[in-house]
Amino acid sequence: EEKAEAKVGEELEEKAETKVSYNITFVTAEAAPYSKTGGLGDVCGSLPIALASRGHRVMVVSPRYMHGTSEDARYSGAVDMDCNIQIYCFGAAQEVGFYHEYRKGVDWVFVDHPSFHRAGSPYGDMYGTFGDNQFRYTLLCHAACEAPLVLPLGGYTYGERCLFLVNDWHASLVPVLLAAKYRPHGVYKDARSVLVIHNIAHQGVEPIVTYGNLGLPLEWRGALEWVFPNWARMHALDTGEAVNFLKGAIVTADRIVTVSKGYSWEITTSEGGYGLHELLKDRKSVLSGITNGIDVTEWDPSSDQYIPFKYSADDLSGKVKCKIELQKELGLPERPDCPVIGFIGRLDYQKGIELIRMGIAELMEDDVQFVMLGSGNPAYEDWMRATEATYRDKFRGWVGFNVPISHRITAGCDILLMPSTFEPCGLNQLYAMRYGTIPVVHQTGGLRDTVQNFNPFAEVKNDEGTGWTFSPLTKENMLVALRYAIQTYREYKSSWEGLMRRGMTRDYTWVNAATQYEQVIEWAFMDPP
Ligand code: ADP
Repeated sequence: EEKAEAKVGEELEEKAETKVSYNITFVTAEAAPYSKTGGLGDVCGSLPIALASRGHRVMVVSPRYMHGTSEDARYSGAVDMDCNIQIYCFGAAQEVGFYHEYRKGVDWVFVDHPSFHRAGSPYGDMYGTFGDNQFRYTLLCHAACEAPLVLPLGGYTYGERCLFLVNDWHASLVPVLLAAKYRPHGVYKDARSVLVIHNIAHQGVEPIVTYGNLGLPLEWRGALEWVFPNWARMHALDTGEAVNFLKGAIVTADRIVTVSKGYSWEITTSEGGYGLHELLKDRKSVLSGITNGIDVTEWDPSSDQYIPFKYSADDLSGKVKCKIELQKELGLPERPDCPVIGFIGRLDYQKGIELIRMGIAELMEDDVQFVMLGSGNPAYEDWMRATEATYRDKFRGWVGFNVPISHRITAGCDILLMPSTFEPCGLNQLYAMRYGTIPVVHQTGGLRDTVQNFNPFAEVKNDEGTGWTFSPLTKENMLVALRYAIQTYREYKSSWEGLMRRGMTRDYTWVNAATQYEQVIEWAFMDPP
């Protein structure tokens, strides 16, 4: 009997060792630390590493954005692979090159083309969004499809049995290309694709006449075709016909993932689906939600290189010192006992700036300080500057994109406010909790999934809640939630420390999410494409 048991044990061990490993190609417009404007960059900078550490072969294909000398340093570790290819789209043969850096177990591949060499963010500059983004990301998608076939990374190509993990609209042409350009010729028959939706509000929509530029066969037009709702049309003769990149991926990808469970439901509703909810409902059986992890080495209060004092759940004393330094840095009165509320994010309607705008006067009546960091909509930027001028000793509005400051605000504040109208996952609330900064958030999408509302009446157990969530999204509800937070901070120190410690000791690593991605990938390979 013992022998039989031992045999079963051996077999099980063997099975565990023969865990399948996949060749995974991420396609993305952003990957931190090379490029980042928001959560997409963070996710595509860390999830690939987590998957590689689980034994998969992982490459990340993104553009080589060159901004002039100061920014070029980011790509200094990447070498030219001397492998230029021609891509046929937009009426010509476009030549692109590939650069490569092997770092943290991942092949980082950068597509090189003159249209990626510009000042500004990946998507635009001070004059607005670039007019040729459809062209730029069409190039990215074509190049990414070629990469596993032509690039000898570490001596070997990734080959055709490859999983394409395509992120948001910029990469959405990839599954369409697999179906329309490659499979009919017998290439990539064994490849699969997973679409990850980080934000459904951006879909890559352009007039239908541009279809002919994309390098796709005519008969696949239906996959990208989309009609604007009436209200969004320019004039009576506008038929509203468009191409929609994200739609293309929604109808052709083998699996669809969103960055939280809550959001995977929201996008199937007419409020949250931005016109694509019906299609997503049709694909519900392949749609799932996986909550993002965070880079716990970059975001760690006990070793963060950007913050002046380190601290941890065991020794919180550094946090208040960080607060005083932040007040000093920003020229606010140095007051360790005054609650400091922070906001970090893109200045976009999505982030709920309107609500802050409406509530600021009432909030400023209280004895609090408010620090905002963000860039984006010029009207909101001007408002931040003006508000700073009105409340000199209480309000700071830092206009710009600045990673070190974002760390110092996360560490130095007591409360982080996120009144987002919708939030697919949201990362700042996760960073905040890890830094003992209590999130006050609109109960939506990933915010609902990751922040548990504090319940003072459950305090005997002292294990309830990591922040405050409010709903529906009104100025009054936001102010009420903030006042609860402020009052708890001032009057119930032990409750506050409980909140801090619960947030700080949660597991934010990518391990959990990576395991779930692995399951989706495994599942994608079970069905024919
Ligand atoms: P989204 O992807 O919608 O922008 P997330 O909360 O998922 O929102 O991710 C935002 C990321 O971008 C976080 O890492 C945040 O710190 C960072 N970020 C946003 N605005 C700024 C800024 N002005 N300066 C520095 N980092 C910023």
